[in-house]
Amino acid sequence: MTKPTIGLIGLGTMGAALALNIAEKGFGIAVWNRTTSVTEKFVAQAGNLAQQITPAETLTDFVAAIAPPRAVILMVPAGQAVDDQLTALAPLLGPDDLVIDAGNANFHDTNRRAASGLPFRFMGIGVSGGEEGARHGPAIMAGGAELDWARIAPVLQAIAARAEDGTPCAAHLGPDGAGHFVKAVHNGIEYADMQMIAETYGVMRDGLAMPAPEIGAAFARWNAGPLQSYLVEISAAVAQATDPVGQGPLLDMIVDAAGQKGTGRWTAIEAQTLAAPIPVIEAAVMARNVSAQRAERAAGERVYGPAPQSLTGILSVDDLEQALIAGKILCYAQGFAMMTAAAAEFRWALDMPAIARVWRAGCIIRSAMLNDMATALAEVPGRNLILSDFFAGHLRHSIPALRRVVAAGAMHGLALPALGAGLAWFDMMRTARGTANMIQGQRDFFGLHGFERLDGLPRPHGPWAAA
Ligand code: NDP
Repeated sequence: MTKPTIGLIGLGTMGAALALNIAEKGFGIAVWNRTTSVTEKFVAQAGNLAQQITPAETLTDFVAAIAPPRAVILMVPAGQAVDDQLTALAPLLGPDDLVIDAGNANFHDTNRRAASGLPFRFMGIGVSGGEEGARHGPAIMAGGAELDWARIAPVLQAIAARAEDGTPCAAHLGPDGAGHFVKAVHNGIEYADMQMIAETYGVMRDGLAMPAPEIGAAFARWNAGPLQSYLVEISAAVAQATDPVGQGPLLDMIVDAAGQKGTGRWTAIEAQTLAAPIPVIEAAVMARNVSAQRAERAAGERVYGPAPQSLTGILSVDDLEQALIAGKILCYAQGFAMMTAAAAEFRWALDMPAIARVWRAGCIIRSAMLNDMATALAEVPGRNLILSDFFAGHLRHSIPALRRVVAAGAMHGLALPALGAGLAWFDMMRTARGTANMIQGQRDFFGLHGFERLDGLPRPHGPWAAA
Protein backbone atom coordinates (compact mmCIF):
# COMPACT_ATOMS: atom_id res chain seq x y z
CA MET A 1 0.00 0.00 0.00
CA THR A 2 1.34 3.47 -0.87
CA LYS A 3 1.78 5.76 2.09
CA PRO A 4 -1.20 7.99 2.89
CA THR A 5 -0.76 11.76 2.73
CA ILE A 6 -3.35 12.37 5.45
CA GLY A 7 -3.26 11.55 9.13
CA LEU A 8 -5.69 12.04 12.00
CA ILE A 9 -4.99 12.45 15.69
CA GLY A 10 -7.72 11.78 18.26
CA LEU A 11 -10.00 8.78 17.71
CA GLY A 12 -12.81 9.93 20.01
CA THR A 13 -16.41 10.33 18.90
CA MET A 14 -15.70 12.80 16.11
CA GLY A 15 -12.20 11.72 15.09
CA ALA A 16 -13.10 8.05 14.65
CA ALA A 17 -16.15 8.92 12.54
CA LEU A 18 -14.18 11.40 10.44
CA ALA A 19 -11.36 8.90 9.85
CA LEU A 20 -13.82 6.25 8.66
CA ASN A 21 -15.50 8.82 6.40
CA ILE A 22 -12.13 9.75 4.87
CA ALA A 23 -11.21 6.08 4.38
CA GLU A 24 -14.59 5.35 2.83
CA LYS A 25 -14.07 8.11 0.25
CA GLY A 26 -10.98 6.25 -0.95
CA PHE A 27 -8.22 8.16 0.83
CA GLY A 28 -5.57 6.32 2.78
CA ILE A 29 -5.25 7.66 6.33
CA ALA A 30 -2.82 7.20 9.20
CA VAL A 31 -4.29 7.41 12.70
CA TRP A 32 -2.90 7.95 16.17
CA ASN A 33 -4.60 8.19 19.52
CA ARG A 34 -3.13 9.07 22.91
CA THR A 35 -4.47 5.80 24.32
CA THR A 36 -3.27 2.97 22.08
CA SER A 37 -6.03 0.54 23.06
CA VAL A 38 -8.51 3.00 21.50
CA THR A 39 -6.58 2.86 18.21
CA GLU A 40 -6.56 -0.94 18.29
CA LYS A 41 -10.28 -1.11 18.95
CA PHE A 42 -10.94 1.44 16.21
CA VAL A 43 -9.04 -0.55 13.58
CA ALA A 44 -10.60 -3.83 14.74
CA GLN A 45 -14.06 -2.35 14.20
CA ALA A 46 -13.30 -0.63 10.89
CA GLY A 47 -14.25 -3.67 8.78
CA ASN A 48 -13.18 -3.39 5.13
CA LEU A 49 -12.12 0.20 5.67
CA ALA A 50 -9.21 -1.05 7.81
CA GLN A 51 -7.33 -1.61 4.51
CA GLN A 52 -7.23 2.16 4.04
CA ILE A 53 -6.12 2.85 7.60
CA THR A 54 -2.54 2.85 8.93
CA PRO A 55 -2.56 2.78 12.75
CA ALA A 56 0.45 4.02 14.70
CA GLU A 57 1.44 3.44 18.31
CA THR A 58 3.67 6.47 18.68
CA LEU A 59 3.45 9.98 17.30
CA THR A 60 6.82 9.47 15.60
CA ASP A 61 5.57 6.32 13.85
CA PHE A 62 2.40 8.19 12.90
CA VAL A 63 4.31 11.02 11.21
CA ALA A 64 6.65 8.52 9.52
CA ALA A 65 3.63 6.66 8.14
CA ILE A 66 2.44 9.75 6.22
CA ALA A 67 4.02 10.79 2.91
CA PRO A 68 5.11 14.43 2.78
CA PRO A 69 3.78 16.99 2.31
CA ARG A 70 1.56 15.73 5.10
CA ALA A 71 -1.89 16.86 6.18
CA VAL A 72 -2.61 16.06 9.83
CA ILE A 73 -6.13 16.54 11.19
CA LEU A 74 -6.41 17.16 14.94
CA MET A 75 -9.68 16.01 16.53
CA VAL A 76 -8.96 16.50 20.23
CA PRO A 77 -10.71 18.69 22.81
CA ALA A 78 -10.35 22.42 22.23
CA GLY A 79 -7.83 24.30 24.36
CA GLN A 80 -4.69 22.92 25.98
CA ALA A 81 -4.88 19.54 24.20
CA VAL A 82 -4.52 21.31 20.84
CA ASP A 83 -1.54 23.36 22.02
CA ASP A 84 0.05 20.21 23.47
CA GLN A 85 -0.35 18.37 20.17
CA LEU A 86 1.06 21.27 18.17
CA THR A 87 4.07 21.32 20.49
CA ALA A 88 4.52 17.56 20.17
CA LEU A 89 4.28 17.71 16.36
CA ALA A 90 6.66 20.66 15.99
CA PRO A 91 9.91 18.63 15.93
CA LEU A 92 8.40 15.95 13.71
CA LEU A 93 6.86 17.94 10.84
CA GLY A 94 8.40 20.01 8.05
CA PRO A 95 7.48 23.50 6.81
CA ASP A 96 5.33 22.09 3.98
CA ASP A 97 3.31 19.85 6.28
CA LEU A 98 -0.14 21.11 7.23
CA VAL A 99 -1.90 20.69 10.58
CA ILE A 100 -5.67 21.19 10.58
CA ASP A 101 -7.39 21.77 13.92
CA ALA A 102 -10.87 20.40 13.28
CA GLY A 103 -12.14 20.67 16.88
CA ASN A 104 -14.30 23.43 18.31
CA ALA A 105 -11.47 25.88 18.99
CA ASN A 106 -12.17 29.40 20.15
CA PHE A 107 -11.31 31.48 17.08
CA HIS A 108 -9.04 33.72 19.16
CA ASP A 109 -6.93 30.63 19.90
CA THR A 110 -6.84 29.79 16.19
CA ASN A 111 -5.73 33.35 15.38
CA ARG A 112 -3.06 33.10 18.07
CA ARG A 113 -1.79 29.73 16.83
CA ALA A 114 -1.75 30.88 13.21
CA ALA A 115 0.36 33.89 14.20
CA SER A 116 2.66 32.00 16.58
CA GLY A 117 5.31 30.99 14.06
CA LEU A 118 4.56 27.27 14.05
CA PRO A 119 7.20 25.34 12.07
CA PHE A 120 4.50 23.89 9.79
CA ARG A 121 1.41 25.21 8.04
CA PHE A 122 -1.77 25.51 10.09
CA MET A 123 -5.50 25.80 9.49
CA GLY A 124 -8.55 25.88 11.76
CA ILE A 125 -11.76 24.31 10.50
CA GLY A 126 -15.18 24.06 12.11
CA VAL A 127 -16.92 20.70 11.67
CA SER A 128 -20.60 20.34 12.44
CA GLY A 129 -23.03 17.46 12.40
CA GLY A 130 -22.10 15.44 15.47
CA GLU A 131 -20.92 11.84 15.14
CA GLU A 132 -23.42 10.99 12.40
CA GLY A 133 -22.36 14.00 10.36
CA ALA A 134 -18.66 13.27 10.82
CA ARG A 135 -19.22 9.69 9.66
CA HIS A 136 -21.47 10.33 6.69
CA GLY A 137 -21.06 13.99 5.75
CA PRO A 138 -20.50 16.99 8.02
CA ALA A 139 -20.69 20.68 7.18
CA ILE A 140 -17.17 22.12 7.11
CA MET A 141 -16.30 25.77 7.72
CA ALA A 142 -12.64 26.30 6.86
CA GLY A 143 -10.33 29.10 7.90
CA GLY A 144 -6.72 29.49 6.81
CA ALA A 145 -4.62 30.35 3.81
CA GLU A 146 -6.15 29.90 0.37
CA LEU A 147 -3.27 27.67 -0.76
CA ASP A 148 -3.72 25.32 2.19
CA TRP A 149 -7.44 25.13 1.49
CA ALA A 150 -6.71 24.33 -2.16
CA ARG A 151 -4.54 21.46 -1.02
CA ILE A 152 -6.98 19.86 1.42
CA ALA A 153 -10.24 20.85 -0.32
CA PRO A 154 -10.46 17.64 -2.43
CA VAL A 155 -10.55 15.58 0.78
CA LEU A 156 -12.82 17.89 2.77
CA GLN A 157 -15.27 18.32 -0.11
CA ALA A 158 -15.33 14.54 -0.68
CA ILE A 159 -16.25 13.82 2.96
CA ALA A 160 -18.66 16.74 3.42
CA ALA A 161 -22.42 16.55 3.26
CA ARG A 162 -24.04 17.46 -0.04
CA ALA A 163 -26.89 19.90 -0.42
CA GLU A 164 -29.87 18.87 -2.53
CA ASP A 165 -28.26 20.41 -5.60
CA GLY A 166 -25.18 18.23 -5.03
CA THR A 167 -22.88 21.03 -3.81
CA PRO A 168 -20.52 19.90 -1.05
CA CYS A 169 -21.15 21.69 2.26
CA ALA A 170 -17.50 22.60 2.76
CA ALA A 171 -16.14 26.04 2.04
CA HIS A 172 -13.14 28.20 2.68
CA LEU A 173 -14.51 31.23 4.49
CA GLY A 174 -11.46 33.34 5.33
CA PRO A 175 -8.03 33.39 6.94
CA ASP A 176 -6.90 32.22 10.40
CA GLY A 177 -9.83 31.88 12.81
CA ALA A 178 -12.59 32.74 10.31
CA GLY A 179 -13.79 29.14 10.03
CA HIS A 180 -13.90 28.63 13.79
CA PHE A 181 -15.66 31.99 14.19
CA VAL A 182 -18.40 30.95 11.75
CA LYS A 183 -18.66 27.60 13.55
CA ALA A 184 -19.15 29.45 16.85
CA VAL A 185 -21.97 31.53 15.35
CA HIS A 186 -23.42 28.29 13.95
CA ASN A 187 -23.39 26.88 17.48
CA GLY A 188 -24.96 30.06 18.86
CA ILE A 189 -27.78 29.75 16.35
CA GLU A 190 -28.03 26.07 17.30
CA TYR A 191 -28.51 27.05 20.96
CA ALA A 192 -31.18 29.57 19.94
CA ASP A 193 -33.02 27.19 17.61
CA MET A 194 -33.06 24.51 20.31
CA GLN A 195 -34.24 26.98 22.96
CA MET A 196 -37.10 28.31 20.82
CA ILE A 197 -38.23 24.76 20.04
CA ALA A 198 -38.07 24.01 23.79
CA GLU A 199 -40.17 27.11 24.48
CA THR A 200 -42.90 26.01 22.07
CA TYR A 201 -42.72 22.56 23.68
CA GLY A 202 -43.22 24.23 27.08
CA VAL A 203 -46.31 26.10 25.89
CA MET A 204 -47.79 22.89 24.49
CA ARG A 205 -46.95 20.91 27.65
CA ASP A 206 -47.84 23.43 30.35
CA GLY A 207 -50.18 25.85 28.55
CA LEU A 208 -52.12 23.47 26.33
CA ALA A 209 -51.83 20.33 28.50
CA MET A 210 -50.65 18.26 25.53
CA PRO A 211 -48.93 14.94 26.29
CA ALA A 212 -45.44 14.43 24.84
CA PRO A 213 -46.48 12.13 21.95
CA GLU A 214 -49.02 14.73 20.80
CA ILE A 215 -46.35 17.42 20.98
CA GLY A 216 -44.08 15.15 18.96
CA ALA A 217 -46.80 14.79 16.35
CA ALA A 218 -47.10 18.60 16.15
CA PHE A 219 -43.33 18.90 15.58
CA ALA A 220 -43.55 16.19 12.92
CA ARG A 221 -46.30 18.20 11.14
CA TRP A 222 -44.22 21.40 11.38
CA ASN A 223 -41.32 19.51 9.87
CA ALA A 224 -43.33 19.12 6.67
CA GLY A 225 -43.61 22.93 6.26
CA PRO A 226 -41.35 26.00 6.37
CA LEU A 227 -39.81 24.77 9.65
CA GLN A 228 -38.43 21.64 7.99
CA SER A 229 -35.11 21.15 9.74
CA TYR A 230 -32.97 18.61 11.52
CA LEU A 231 -33.70 20.11 14.95
CA VAL A 232 -37.49 20.07 14.52
CA GLU A 233 -37.23 16.54 13.12
CA ILE A 234 -35.26 15.23 16.10
CA SER A 235 -37.51 17.13 18.53
CA ALA A 236 -40.43 15.15 17.10
CA ALA A 237 -38.52 11.92 17.67
CA VAL A 238 -37.46 12.94 21.19
CA ALA A 239 -41.03 13.86 22.19
CA GLN A 240 -42.44 10.65 20.73
CA ALA A 241 -39.95 8.25 22.32
CA THR A 242 -41.17 6.01 25.13
CA ASP A 243 -39.11 5.39 28.22
CA PRO A 244 -37.07 2.22 27.56
CA VAL A 245 -36.62 1.46 31.26
CA GLY A 246 -39.77 2.92 32.80
CA GLN A 247 -43.21 3.79 31.55
CA GLY A 248 -44.62 6.64 29.49
CA PRO A 249 -42.78 9.24 27.42
CA LEU A 250 -39.02 9.35 27.94
CA LEU A 251 -39.04 13.16 27.67
CA ASP A 252 -41.09 13.39 30.89
CA MET A 253 -38.31 11.53 32.68
CA ILE A 254 -35.38 13.69 31.49
CA VAL A 255 -33.99 16.21 34.02
CA ASP A 256 -34.66 19.80 32.90
CA ALA A 257 -31.07 21.07 33.22
CA ALA A 258 -29.26 21.68 29.92
CA GLY A 259 -25.57 20.94 29.52
CA GLN A 260 -23.23 23.06 27.42
CA LYS A 261 -19.62 23.04 26.30
CA GLY A 262 -19.45 26.82 26.00
CA THR A 263 -19.54 27.60 22.30
CA GLY A 264 -22.88 29.43 22.64
CA ARG A 265 -21.36 31.48 25.45
CA TRP A 266 -18.34 32.33 23.25
CA THR A 267 -20.74 33.62 20.59
CA ALA A 268 -22.58 35.78 23.12
CA ILE A 269 -19.31 37.16 24.52
CA GLU A 270 -17.99 37.90 21.02
CA ALA A 271 -21.25 39.60 20.06
CA GLN A 272 -20.89 41.92 23.05
CA THR A 273 -17.31 42.70 22.07
CA LEU A 274 -18.44 43.47 18.52
CA ALA A 275 -21.51 45.43 19.77
CA ALA A 276 -23.53 43.15 17.50
CA PRO A 277 -27.05 42.50 18.85
CA ILE A 278 -27.88 38.78 19.04
CA PRO A 279 -30.51 38.79 21.82
CA VAL A 280 -32.11 35.48 20.80
CA ILE A 281 -28.79 33.66 21.12
CA GLU A 282 -27.95 35.48 24.36
CA ALA A 283 -31.35 34.52 25.77
CA ALA A 284 -30.71 30.90 24.81
CA VAL A 285 -27.36 30.90 26.64
CA MET A 286 -29.00 32.55 29.65
CA ALA A 287 -31.81 29.99 29.60
CA ARG A 288 -29.33 27.08 29.69
CA ASN A 289 -27.65 28.70 32.68
CA VAL A 290 -30.98 29.20 34.48
CA SER A 291 -32.00 25.63 33.63
CA ALA A 292 -28.96 24.40 35.57
CA GLN A 293 -30.15 26.27 38.72
CA ARG A 294 -32.63 23.56 39.67
CA ALA A 295 -32.54 24.06 43.42
CA GLU A 296 -33.06 27.82 43.12
CA ARG A 297 -35.93 27.31 40.70
CA ALA A 298 -37.58 24.86 43.06
CA ALA A 299 -37.13 27.36 45.91
CA GLY A 300 -38.67 30.08 43.71
CA GLU A 301 -41.70 27.93 43.05
CA ARG A 302 -42.11 27.32 46.78
CA VAL A 303 -42.02 31.08 47.46
CA TYR A 304 -44.21 32.30 44.60
CA GLY A 305 -46.25 29.21 43.78
CA PRO A 306 -46.67 27.81 40.29
CA ALA A 307 -47.79 30.32 37.65
CA PRO A 308 -51.36 30.15 36.31
CA GLN A 309 -50.37 28.56 33.05
CA SER A 310 -53.45 27.36 31.18
CA LEU A 311 -53.59 28.78 27.68
CA THR A 312 -56.31 26.50 26.33
CA GLY A 313 -58.60 28.57 24.13
CA ILE A 314 -56.05 31.42 24.04
CA LEU A 315 -53.35 29.97 21.81
CA SER A 316 -53.35 27.31 19.14
CA VAL A 317 -50.64 24.94 17.97
CA ASP A 318 -50.69 26.84 14.65
CA ASP A 319 -49.84 30.05 16.55
CA LEU A 320 -46.80 28.28 17.97
CA GLU A 321 -45.69 27.11 14.54
CA GLN A 322 -45.90 30.65 13.19
CA ALA A 323 -44.14 32.05 16.28
CA LEU A 324 -41.30 29.59 15.74
CA ILE A 325 -41.04 30.55 12.06
CA ALA A 326 -40.75 34.22 13.06
CA GLY A 327 -38.29 33.48 15.87
CA LYS A 328 -36.12 31.42 13.58
CA ILE A 329 -35.90 34.14 10.93
CA LEU A 330 -35.10 36.76 13.58
CA CYS A 331 -32.41 34.58 15.14
CA TYR A 332 -30.69 33.84 11.82
CA ALA A 333 -30.94 37.51 10.86
CA GLN A 334 -29.06 38.35 14.07
CA GLY A 335 -26.44 35.64 13.46
CA PHE A 336 -25.73 36.82 9.91
CA ALA A 337 -25.64 40.46 11.06
CA MET A 338 -23.09 39.48 13.71
CA MET A 339 -20.92 37.82 11.07
CA THR A 340 -21.23 40.94 8.90
CA ALA A 341 -19.97 43.00 11.87
CA ALA A 342 -17.11 40.53 12.44
CA ALA A 343 -16.13 40.62 8.77
CA ALA A 344 -15.77 44.40 9.01
CA GLU A 345 -13.94 44.27 12.33
CA PHE A 346 -11.46 41.53 11.39
CA ARG A 347 -11.21 42.48 7.69
CA TRP A 348 -12.48 39.08 6.60
CA ALA A 349 -14.32 38.78 3.31
CA LEU A 350 -16.97 36.49 4.82
CA ASP A 351 -19.32 35.39 2.07
CA MET A 352 -22.74 35.25 3.79
CA PRO A 353 -24.58 33.39 0.99
CA ALA A 354 -21.73 30.82 0.95
CA ILE A 355 -22.10 30.37 4.72
CA ALA A 356 -25.87 29.85 4.36
CA ARG A 357 -25.17 27.30 1.63
CA VAL A 358 -22.62 25.41 3.74
CA TRP A 359 -25.23 25.13 6.51
CA ARG A 360 -27.83 23.57 4.18
CA ALA A 361 -26.78 19.97 4.91
CA GLY A 362 -24.68 17.98 7.34
CA CYS A 363 -24.80 20.42 10.24
CA ILE A 364 -27.10 20.56 13.24
CA ILE A 365 -28.85 23.75 12.08
CA ARG A 366 -29.55 22.48 8.56
CA SER A 367 -32.99 23.58 7.48
CA ALA A 368 -35.11 24.19 4.42
CA MET A 369 -35.02 27.95 5.05
CA LEU A 370 -31.28 28.22 4.37
CA ASN A 371 -31.72 28.05 0.60
CA ASP A 372 -33.95 31.14 0.71
CA MET A 373 -31.55 32.79 3.14
CA ALA A 374 -28.65 32.26 0.74
CA THR A 375 -30.70 33.88 -2.03
CA ALA A 376 -31.80 36.82 0.14
CA LEU A 377 -28.28 37.41 1.47
CA ALA A 378 -26.93 37.48 -2.08
CA GLU A 379 -29.45 40.12 -3.25
CA VAL A 380 -27.94 43.02 -1.31
CA PRO A 381 -24.65 42.20 0.48
CA GLY A 382 -24.65 43.37 4.10
CA ARG A 383 -28.41 44.00 4.24
CA ASN A 384 -30.18 42.56 7.26
CA LEU A 385 -32.16 39.46 6.37
CA ILE A 386 -35.39 40.92 7.78
CA LEU A 387 -35.26 43.67 5.13
CA SER A 388 -35.36 41.25 2.19
CA ASP A 389 -38.72 41.05 0.43
CA PHE A 390 -38.90 37.30 0.90
CA PHE A 391 -38.36 37.26 4.67
CA ALA A 392 -40.34 40.46 5.21
CA GLY A 393 -43.24 38.58 3.62
CA HIS A 394 -42.74 35.66 6.01
CA LEU A 395 -42.46 37.98 9.01
CA ARG A 396 -45.55 40.05 8.15
CA HIS A 397 -47.45 36.78 8.23
CA SER A 398 -45.85 35.23 11.33
CA ILE A 399 -45.12 38.15 13.68
CA PRO A 400 -48.77 38.53 14.85
CA ALA A 401 -48.63 34.92 16.08
CA LEU A 402 -45.26 35.54 17.76
CA ARG A 403 -46.84 38.55 19.47
CA ARG A 404 -49.81 36.47 20.68
CA VAL A 405 -47.54 33.70 21.97
CA VAL A 406 -45.12 36.03 23.80
CA ALA A 407 -47.99 38.06 25.29
CA ALA A 408 -49.87 34.95 26.41
CA GLY A 409 -46.68 33.53 27.93
CA ALA A 410 -46.10 36.75 29.85
CA MET A 411 -49.68 36.92 31.10
CA HIS A 412 -49.76 33.29 32.17
CA GLY A 413 -46.30 32.88 33.67
CA LEU A 414 -44.68 30.76 30.95
CA ALA A 415 -41.10 31.84 30.35
CA LEU A 416 -40.33 32.44 26.66
CA PRO A 417 -36.96 34.21 26.84
CA ALA A 418 -35.72 33.55 23.31
CA LEU A 419 -39.00 34.15 21.50
CA GLY A 420 -39.56 37.26 23.63
CA ALA A 421 -36.07 38.55 22.92
CA GLY A 422 -36.64 38.05 19.20
CA LEU A 423 -39.88 40.01 19.30
CA ALA A 424 -38.36 42.89 21.29
CA TRP A 425 -35.46 43.11 18.81
CA PHE A 426 -37.88 43.03 15.88
CA ASP A 427 -39.93 45.86 17.36
CA MET A 428 -36.80 47.92 17.90
CA MET A 429 -35.63 47.22 14.36
CA ARG A 430 -38.93 48.37 12.85
CA THR A 431 -39.10 51.62 14.88
CA ALA A 432 -37.49 54.63 13.23
CA ARG A 433 -37.86 56.89 16.29
CA GLY A 434 -36.64 54.88 19.28
CA THR A 435 -36.24 55.87 22.90
CA ALA A 436 -32.48 56.41 23.15
CA ASN A 437 -33.05 60.19 23.06
CA MET A 438 -33.97 59.78 26.74
CA ILE A 439 -30.74 57.89 27.37
CA GLN A 440 -28.75 60.63 25.63
CA GLY A 441 -30.52 63.22 27.78
CA GLN A 442 -29.71 61.26 30.94
CA ARG A 443 -26.08 60.81 29.88
CA ASP A 444 -25.75 64.49 29.21
CA PHE A 445 -27.44 65.35 32.54
CA PHE A 446 -25.07 63.32 34.72
CA GLY A 447 -21.96 63.22 32.57
CA LEU A 448 -22.15 66.13 30.10
CA HIS A 449 -21.70 63.59 27.29
CA GLY A 450 -23.53 65.81 24.79
CA PHE A 451 -26.12 64.78 22.20
CA GLU A 452 -27.11 65.40 18.62
CA ARG A 453 -30.30 67.35 17.81
CA LEU A 454 -32.80 66.21 15.19
CA ASP A 455 -32.78 69.68 13.61
CA GLY A 456 -28.99 69.64 13.39
CA LEU A 457 -28.63 72.87 15.42
CA PRO A 458 -25.52 73.06 17.58
CA ARG A 459 -26.63 72.36 21.14
CA PRO A 460 -23.88 70.50 22.91
CA HIS A 461 -25.64 70.26 26.31
CA GLY A 462 -29.08 70.59 27.91
CA PRO A 463 -30.09 73.47 30.25
CA TRP A 464 -28.99 71.36 33.24
CA ALA A 465 -25.37 71.99 32.23
CA ALA A 466 -25.58 75.62 33.30
CA ALA A 467 -27.01 74.78 36.76
P1 NDP B 1 -14.03 12.84 22.61
O1 NDP B 1 -13.96 13.14 24.05
O2 NDP B 1 -14.97 11.80 22.13
O3 NDP B 1 -12.56 12.42 22.09
C1 NDP B 1 -11.46 13.19 22.43
C2 NDP B 1 -10.24 12.60 21.75
O4 NDP B 1 -9.14 13.44 22.01
C3 NDP B 1 -9.87 11.21 22.24
O5 NDP B 1 -9.34 10.50 21.18
C4 NDP B 1 -8.80 11.52 23.29
O6 NDP B 1 -7.86 10.48 23.44
C5 NDP B 1 -8.13 12.70 22.68
N1 NDP B 1 -7.52 13.56 23.67
C6 NDP B 1 -8.10 14.12 24.75
N2 NDP B 1 -7.21 14.87 25.40
C7 NDP B 1 -6.05 14.78 24.74
C8 NDP B 1 -4.78 15.34 24.94
N3 NDP B 1 -4.54 16.15 25.96
N4 NDP B 1 -3.81 15.03 24.04
C9 NDP B 1 -4.06 14.20 23.01
N5 NDP B 1 -5.25 13.64 22.76
C10 NDP B 1 -6.23 13.93 23.62
O7 NDP B 1 -14.30 14.25 21.89
P2 NDP B 1 -15.10 14.55 20.56
O8 NDP B 1 -14.68 13.63 19.48
O9 NDP B 1 -16.55 14.67 20.87
O10 NDP B 1 -14.61 16.05 20.25
C11 NDP B 1 -13.37 16.35 19.63
C12 NDP B 1 -13.43 17.79 19.16
O11 NDP B 1 -14.49 17.92 18.23
C13 NDP B 1 -13.71 18.80 20.28
O12 NDP B 1 -13.06 20.00 20.02
C14 NDP B 1 -15.22 18.99 20.16
O13 NDP B 1 -15.64 20.22 20.71
C15 NDP B 1 -15.38 18.95 18.65
N6 NDP B 1 -16.71 18.63 18.17
C16 NDP B 1 -17.47 17.67 18.79
C17 NDP B 1 -18.75 17.39 18.31
C18 NDP B 1 -19.58 16.31 18.92
O14 NDP B 1 -20.78 16.24 18.55
N7 NDP B 1 -19.05 15.47 19.80
C19 NDP B 1 -19.31 18.12 17.14
C20 NDP B 1 -18.40 19.06 16.53
C21 NDP B 1 -17.16 19.31 17.05
P3 NDP B 1 -7.98 9.34 24.56
O15 NDP B 1 -8.67 8.18 23.92
O16 NDP B 1 -6.58 9.03 24.92
O17 NDP B 1 -8.77 9.91 25.71
